Amino acid sequence: MKEKWNFIFYLIWFSYLIMSAVLMFGHGFLLSRKTMSDITECQHLETFDCSGRERGNSSIEESCTLDEKIKQILSVTGSPLICAPSHGRVVFILVDALRYDFTEYDDKLENPLPYQNRLPVMQRTLELCPDCVRLFRFIADPPTTTLQRVKALVTGSLPTFIDASSNFAAMELQEDNIIDQVVNAGHHAVLLGDDTWSRLMPRRWFRAHTMYSFHTWDLDTVDIEVDSKIYDELKKDDWDLLVAHYLGVDHAGHRYGPNHSEMKRKLDETNARIEKIIEIIPKDVILYVVGDHGMTESGDHGGESKAERTAAMFAYRGAGFGGQSPDIQTGREVQQTDLAPTMSAAFGRPPPAPSLGNILFPVLPKMTVAETLLHLTNSLKQVSQYLVRYGEESQQVSLDRLAHLINATREQIEKAATVKTEDDLSIYVSNVRLLMDNVRIVFREVWVEFDTVSMLRALLLLILVIFFNWLIVEGIPIERLPNIFASTFVSCGLISMAICVSVCYTVFHFELLEDVHHGVILSTGLISSALTCVLVIMHWDGISQRWYEGRSPIYERFARGALMASAAVLLSNSYIIEEGAELSFLALSVLGTIAWNIGTIKAFTLWVGFGATLVISRSYRGCREEQGDCWTSIGVGSTGQASRTALVMALGSMAAVVAIARRHVGWRGHGVVLAGLFACAHWALGWGALGSPSRSRQLARGSWLILGSMFVLLWKRERFGAILPLIVCSLLFFIANALVLGASFAPSAALGLLAGYLALNVVSMMKNGNSKFSLSTRCSSSVACMWALLASYQFYGTGHHATLGHVRWAPAFHAGDPNYLPIGPFVTGALVSLELFGMPFMFGAAVPLLALWGRNGAAAAGPRTQMAAVFTLCLKFGLCFAVRVFMSALSATIHCRHLMIWGVFTPKLLFESGACAAALLGTVVGATLTAWHVPTQIKPS
Ligand SMILES: [Zn+2]
Ligand SMILES: [Zn+2]
Repeated sequence: MKEKWNFIFYLIWFSYLIMSAVLMFGHGFLLSRKTMSDITECQHLETFDCSGRERGNSSIEESCTLDEKIKQILSVTGSPLICAPSHGRVVFILVDALRYDFTEYDDKLENPLPYQNRLPVMQRTLELCPDCVRLFRFIADPPTTTLQRVKALVTGSLPTFIDASSNFAAMELQEDNIIDQVVNAGHHAVLLGDDTWSRLMPRRWFRAHTMYSFHTWDLDTVDIEVDSKIYDELKKDDWDLLVAHYLGVDHAGHRYGPNHSEMKRKLDETNARIEKIIEIIPKDVILYVVGDHGMTESGDHGGESKAERTAAMFAYRGAGFGGQSPDIQTGREVQQTDLAPTMSAAFGRPPPAPSLGNILFPVLPKMTVAETLLHLTNSLKQVSQYLVRYGEESQQVSLDRLAHLINATREQIEKAATVKTEDDLSIYVSNVRLLMDNVRIVFREVWVEFDTVSMLRALLLLILVIFFNWLIVEGIPIERLPNIFASTFVSCGLISMAICVSVCYTVFHFELLEDVHHGVILSTGLISSALTCVLVIMHWDGISQRWYEGRSPIYERFARGALMASAAVLLSNSYIIEEGAELSFLALSVLGTIAWNIGTIKAFTLWVGFGATLVISRSYRGCREEQGDCWTSIGVGSTGQASRTALVMALGSMAAVVAIARRHVGWRGHGVVLAGLFACAHWALGWGALGSPSRSRQLARGSWLILGSMFVLLWKRERFGAILPLIVCSLLFFIANALVLGASFAPSAALGLLAGYLALNVVSMMKNGNSKFSLSTRCSSSVACMWALLASYQFYGTGHHATLGHVRWAPAFHAGDPNYLPIGPFVTGALVSLELFGMPFMFGAAVPLLALWGRNGAAAAGPRTQMAAVFTLCLKFGLCFAVRVFMSALSATIHCRHLMIWGVFTPKLLFESGACAAALLGTVVGATLTAWHVPTQIKPS
């Protein structure tokens, strides 16, 4: 029985092909940027003497003006960044989703729309004092979501969907930003409003009044709260930077759209607010009122349409601003990346380390030529440092381009010393601006552009792998499979893969290949497709014969149709949002047709029970932001906050599962009971305000330890075949799942287990005519499709949704803080993935049971038949997930310029790939377990 291991190798091979293609797709699709923890430092002017050199220890008094000193410093090549004089205090007001046309004013307009002419204060102050007011178009880079925008505003960098940062779980910003620059210089910052800021930048604030703000249906709470604090704060003078984030306009947009009287009300409030603030603040305080993004005509944002990207920037300073026309023109376009260096300059600080923006002198107080030059050179020096560091840390940008940019910035730094007059300065300013724009263009290309070539290659590989494997499992008669796998096919395949990998690395070594990983993935994918193609051609007679023999039964065609439908809806954003309901409906109807085909009362009753579990799990499903007025499953993830009922249900469900299962799994039952007991004790001790988190963690660790050792004991040979170890394996996965889900969601794992058990029993009643066991019926694609739909549904059934906001980080810490361990990030990743994809994993491991379970099961047949049946089902199950991932990837490719790409399609792709990886891994575990325990001799029957 050598071929049984060949089956496993083939499954691993198949999983590798699917996952490598998915990785390749992700590499081309997910925008990523290397984040670095560098911080820009500057040296104080006092540490330099009048000749522009560092003073050292001598304290000789010299007399020279500040400007002379600066000029001297600038003439020294290689001088460091210098702290400039500070220009007083800044009030920064972020009006979420303040689109530029909200701020325009036109009194000739006959019938203004609800959002037009609502902010007259801006126009009026501009007319009263043209030098005190600036109004610009404030252009955002997509994705135009608030979190990404706030990050980009404070760092001055371009936003990406995922920042490849070192810390995995924390939301805290890892990069240098204006708040850090301001606070490190000894200034005080006060925060009011949206708590996104305090979560991104905790522990920086002198005072902070923040509110949780995810509830987009609520137009007023946060605004009223900020209003109740801001006027008192404005009258105090112990702060230097005041940040206030208003959400009402954004939420009015989300709920009603801009063309609604509620928008009119929110904008009128904003107008009154700005009027009052301008009245209160002293003349030398700078006021910035900006929008982080705009909104579409339906009031949403996230994409890259002009309406979403064009926010407004209103700046006011009673004592007037600098800058000359044409730079001060109302409605001029400035980039949001410019805010961070500009605000830093207002405090005399250099731009934050990752900033790629220009300093906007028209919204800063008037400065002398020397001081302006000081800021410009600071900005150039910071950018050239960033270019050098980015080249060291990442290979995203080619070294030639980086070197070219670095040389250009150094050239400009040296030119600064030659600038003498105002006219020279304005030429110099525009040269620097041009250079910075070039730098930004280079980085935008690598951070924002998709790599379409690798995306299309990955899609091609996926479709090839799916197509040929589909031909193999659907076409070649199952009876022939053991012979194929007893031949040298698998070993040939693995050897050719090894040759491919070594050739790729050799070619890479001689620098003939640029990207070795893509080379490996592409060549192994193609060679595997070629090999499976040869296999298909060799067995073409069997395949064609099977096709001629007639059509498959109706329930089987229905099941395939249902799976295709579940994959096709991934192309539509509104269906993805409702996917939980849609998957439960499809799984239920596929099992229904199977039960109908069996036609007994028992099958029908089991089906009704299956339906009931799906209905009950509805209450755990919760819903996502787009679905309306609810956010049930967010924020109640951890055991400590669970309600008393939830705790009782968690304990009860765990006890019930353990008690029922224990008696049927022999000596292994004791381990299951022990692990379950520890899990229950962990919840009971960790619950409520009086719970003891440390002892609760100890118990969780104990439970993990038992689960681990039980998993090892699974490999003790079982005389009666693989069924018992497989059941125990599923139970262990269930307990592990329940542990990471926490008490609030643990019952949903029990519901998932129950649904699987009921479906398994329906399947076990399937037979073909009078024969006791029919390979073609038990291993039909309807069974695999039903199981895959159920496994996909359980992702939703256990309270998840395909949005990044729904990822619960609590499980990463429930057995202790893994970040203190050297393998910490691995533990964190494993626990969080288990929490997300534990159900597809468990269902994957239970796939062999579909073939073996029950009186009609394959367990009574010979070992070769058993393995062939298990292998066929595992591969079909894997194919179902592969088809879904392929459709997600295709949908992301088609919609890559779509409005909802960052909100819906990309998270869906991420979670679908995760579920696919978990399901494949699960099937490999289950199939290996079967191969290990399958009896070597045929039992006399
Ligand atoms: Zn926003
Ligand atoms: Zn919004």
